Amino acid sequence: MKIISAIRTAVMKRKNLYDARKIFQDTMLTHSTREEKLRVLKTHLGIIAFECFSYCNRKCWFCGNAKIDRHSFCHYLPEETFLRVCDTLAEIDYSGNVSWACYNEPLAKTEVALERIRQARERLPNAFFFLFTNSDFLTKELMYELDMAGINFLAPQCYYALGEPYDLEKNVKPSVENMLKKLGISPWRTEERWDFHSLGRLYIMPTERKMLVYTMCSNFDAIGLNRGDTTDAFNIFQNRMEPCSMPLYRLHINYTGLVMPCCEFRCDAEINKHHAIGDANIQSIEDIFCCEKAVRFRNDVMRYGTKPSPCNHCGGGLEVDFTKVSCLNAYTHFFHLQEAARRG
Ligand code: SF4
Ligand code: SF4
Repeated sequence: MKIISAIRTAVMKRKNLYDARKIFQDTMLTHSTREEKLRVLKTHLGIIAFECFSYCNRKCWFCGNAKIDRHSFCHYLPEETFLRVCDTLAEIDYSGNVSWACYNEPLAKTEVALERIRQARERLPNAFFFLFTNSDFLTKELMYELDMAGINFLAPQCYYALGEPYDLEKNVKPSVENMLKKLGISPWRTEERWDFHSLGRLYIMPTERKMLVYTMCSNFDAIGLNRGDTTDAFNIFQNRMEPCSMPLYRLHINYTGLVMPCCEFRCDAEINKHHAIGDANIQSIEDIFCCEKAVRFRNDVMRYGTKPSPCNHCGGGLEVDFTKVSCLNAYTHFFHLQEAARRG
């Protein structure tokens, strides 16, 4: 019986992968005209992340910033590059997700962050903007400014120390409550949620825009990743064989303008740099999304079998199945659920 069940599972997994590859086949082939590339971008891009500057004030134990310097300088993504990308997204009436951080703290340079969010919102009225922050620079006033600027979903993070157990009563709930206190949010106006192996409290801003604030504490024992081999805090996979869906629907624009196919890679890690699929300073995003290197990479990871380094050690982009619904919604489902709750 066990053998039959294992065979059935293996067949199902391959069928799911086959279906997903079929649905995403446009992202796994090269295209020649701008029109075709814009169509592929519009159909498949689901998350674009901007690292508007390099600086982060922390060196969290679970992050590559524990070893890679993001403290002693601050380089900015050229405004011209940022606006050019936004203009292309406007051209396709982008309605996917926009993330405001990679390996920087997006609120460390508050004025720049607010200006970029406003500029993007002006061009992308239908996109969903989410911002994760370590909250060191977040105040109640800034929450209102972010709401006004166009953020849909704000996620102040509560981190726990290395070696500290993820204990709901001892450290998780108290840290979430402290965060609410700091932000002047009454706990009785929030709702407890469990998502992404994270406990959090959801609060809807009492404004016309009604930005969602989700103060969360994630369990890194469950979701910690090796971040493109830039941290050894989590050594979960030795030789990943499972496919990865992330590069099919993501673009991550680092502060230098280099574009990465997933959130695990960073421009300032020697072992990751060669995974950049383009440079947004000199190339259009439709060219980058559809370039030969991106297509080759997707084909390399969207299959069962040995993965290129550092994907072979990575636990990201693992889906229950690889149908379109699962691929596209795995990450965004959470945000869309909150958005649906907001709309009532
Ligand atoms: S996890 Fe976030 S706050 Fe911590 S070092 Fe990394 S980028 Fe900075
Ligand atoms: S396996 Fe990990 S590093 Fe490789 S593409 Fe997927 S998420 Fe990125």
